[in-house]
Amino acid sequence: MARAPFEIAGTRVAPGSRAQIDVPVAKLYTHAPLHIPVEVVHGRQSGPVMLVCGAIHGDEINGVEIVRRLLRSKAIRPLRGTLIAVPIVNVFGFVQHTRYLPDRRDLNRCFPGTEEGSLGSRIAALFREQIVDLATHIIDLHTGAIHRTNLPQIRAQLVPDSETDAMASAFGAPVILNAELREGSIRHYAQNRGVPVLTYEAGEALRFDEWAIGPGVRGILRVMRRIGMLSGDQRRRAPRAAEVANGSSWARAPIDGILRPKVRLGARVAKGEILGVVADPFGNAEGEVRANADGIVIGMSNLPLANEGEALFHVARFEAIEEAENAVESFQSDYPANATNH
Ligand SMILES: [Zn+2]
Repeated sequence: MARAPFEIAGTRVAPGSRAQIDVPVAKLYTHAPLHIPVEVVHGRQSGPVMLVCGAIHGDEINGVEIVRRLLRSKAIRPLRGTLIAVPIVNVFGFVQHTRYLPDRRDLNRCFPGTEEGSLGSRIAALFREQIVDLATHIIDLHTGAIHRTNLPQIRAQLVPDSETDAMASAFGAPVILNAELREGSIRHYAQNRGVPVLTYEAGEALRFDEWAIGPGVRGILRVMRRIGMLSGDQRRRAPRAAEVANGSSWARAPIDGILRPKVRLGARVAKGEILGVVADPFGNAEGEVRANADGIVIGMSNLPLANEGEALFHVARFEAIEEAENAVESFQSDYPANATNH
């Protein structure tokens, strides 16, 4: 029996074909319509429906390039199941180079949203009804916030032997952070509906970081292999298994001033170790930023200007710190640009 076409936003995509669809989302003041661009790849054989989406925070653009490369990859032909690829969810923010919507709301805090709510709430509701609710598996692509960079990492709520757990370990990022769900996020919405969902966080806002993009594309392909959408040997060129971090915290600026970092992204640090020094421009007063736990630096500020209390170094805690360090070192030798980032 022939497989049914895939229906999305009023368009039917035949089995064995792909289509680019502009989902109408809102109008600008000028009356010009605004669309969320979507590409659907509908396989001939049935299987999971994977949603891969980027730029739900409009300035987090590494994911946009990840989606482009994924769609152009020969590896997704042939495909079992259906891939829904959305390079840019927050089209307003993307055009304006900002994380937020024009009403200053964070779209990733607006789910599930309602049709009668604020702009953010309406866009969340529309994206959910037209796209998210069709997916059986989701990978949501992010970067660090503006002026902050993240070591490539998967964030997920891990339950042993769950599909989310299997996807997280298949991805092959050097770090997995077992992270609480944040109210109003797409991850919170999907996970509560029983849809396994990963967040991939890598690199810096408003940048193309090759060491974040390449591993992102390969990670998604590995997950698609793991859940049966692609054939091929899953173990082939598999990266070193990631360690799971069960907690993390930010080391903050002790005073207002100019930061001189002493550690790099991915560094293993000990509790009490000096991560950076903050001083005024004359060098009169100096304040040390110290690690509040043993761990690995999985995120840090790239802007050397800090106000007191500003989050500067994100340190993840691991039970097996040696193994975590090895996984990060192995990753950084595969993607050496990371090591020279600072
Ligand atoms: Zn984000």
